[in-house]
Amino acid sequence: ANDNDDIRRRIRTIPDFPKPGILFRDITTLLLDAEGLRLTIERMAEKVEGKIDLVAGIEARGFLFGAALAVKLGTGVLLIRKDGKLPGATIAEDYALEYGTDRIAIHADACAPGARVLLVDDLIATGGTARAAVRLLRKAGAEVTQAAFVVDLPELGGADALRGEGIAVNALVA
Ligand code: 5GP
Repeated sequence: ANDNDDIRRRIRTIPDFPKPGILFRDITTLLLDAEGLRLTIERMAEKVEGKIDLVAGIEARGFLFGAALAVKLGTGVLLIRKDGKLPGATIAEDYALEYGTDRIAIHADACAPGARVLLVDDLIATGGTARAAVRLLRKAGAEVTQAAFVVDLPELGGADALRGEGIAVNALVA
């Protein structure tokens, strides 16, 4: 459904990781490839609409694409981390996993109220992580209207769920 075959072919699929039956999309091969990385950041940047004040990257692969994209867009990068990793005062958000819950956090003073924040991660599956990130950023006063991913797994419905929260969702490979 899109023409990013040069990016798609640099991502490999590893069966049974992290559990039997899961087909894990491995983007480390894309990161290793200078041309692949360059094309990825260029195309993610092309899809950004209007002015962005800050890029927010989700731990850990979202940090890599997020930081590179921030340099391209001329912004800083905000770290959305697993709870307990940030040294300063934080705000946190819980989200449901298949079994149990997880919690992500940002520094409470990381973004100015009204800042236009672009959310970035390597991949969206169920959307649980990205939706929690949007709630967290909005709790901090950010204006979040766009999210960028390298890979979308559309059959899992995450991108559509995120769109339901008022987010324009862009992914290079589905
Ligand atoms: P979701 O919360 O949308 O179900 O899962 C997305 C999160 O899990 C992202 O932070 C992403 O990095 C990670 N993730 C889930 N499945 C995969 C996968 O197949 N490949 C990669 N690279 N990350 C994945």
